[in-house]
Amino acid sequence: MEGMQGKVALITGSTSGIGLAVAHALGEAGATLVINGLLGAAEANALCKQLAGQYQTEVFFQPCDLRNPDEIERMMAAIESRHGALDILVNNAGMQHVSPITEFPVQKWNDMVAVNLSASFHTMRLAIPGMVGKGWGRIVNIASISGLRARANKPAYVATKHGLVGLTKSVALELAATGVTCNAICPGWVLTPLVQKQIDALAEREGLDNETATTKLVSLKQPSGKFVTTQEVAALCRYLCSGDAREIRGAAWVIDGGTTAQ
Ligand code: NAD
Repeated sequence: MEGMQGKVALITGSTSGIGLAVAHALGEAGATLVINGLLGAAEANALCKQLAGQYQTEVFFQPCDLRNPDEIERMMAAIESRHGALDILVNNAGMQHVSPITEFPVQKWNDMVAVNLSASFHTMRLAIPGMVGKGWGRIVNIASISGLRARANKPAYVATKHGLVGLTKSVALELAATGVTCNAICPGWVLTPLVQKQIDALAEREGLDNETATTKLVSLKQPSGKFVTTQEVAALCRYLCSGDAREIRGAAWVIDGGTTAQ
């Protein structure tokens, strides 16, 4: 796989889970990393130092609460003034909340629409002019198989992930004649803090231990019987950010242990 030396990559929500794995994969390839997430300054600095040391590349932490469009504008302006136009944008940050629609907290709905969907609209609208200007760019939006099919009790997650897949396709078509691609990755179950919360909730609700709840959540729903790993999602993202992926445009690429093949 080609190196990414000289490329600058922003990965939103990269302080844990899939986003952190993507930061590792792009850092290993030599990209300059801009990481983001809800982390205090001390922890963020430690993470930057660790990644920079591990991959001998530059790593910056860009604080931004993605629920706030003004903060997103400030983040994108700060990145541009420090590095110039972005090369790679990975919209990964996301939130989950499981509840019937009638009991769904309104604030939670608003936050999920903001983080899971609108934040990607804002980062893309602000990054695309620079990418088009230099004739090269890669945008990867981390959606979900919930962007392709529905599950009960996940109204905000399913709606925002379907929205993100649609947004990805529309932007990809708009950019089809340029050197900038836009694609989505749709993972099935990946063991990260976001999913561990659902395992914990199931264990508590049904009086199960962690192992039984994990089996119930994943083994019964994902044909492989196994979690997809964060590293596997990150490797796919790295490929979509490569030169070889030049004509992959508007894809919603599943990585789901066979779930959507059923
Ligand atoms: P995670 O909880 O480990 O990571 C979420 C990241 O988003 C963290 O870095 C967090 O700080 C950041 N974040 C959340 N709210 C934010 C905000 N307001 N502003 C800035 N950053 C914020 O979760 P994960 O499982 O790694 O999820 C990453 C993405 O992958 C999400 O979009 C999620 O929907 C998607 N996804 C996850 C799975 C899975 O099984 N884990 C499956 C399909 C899709």
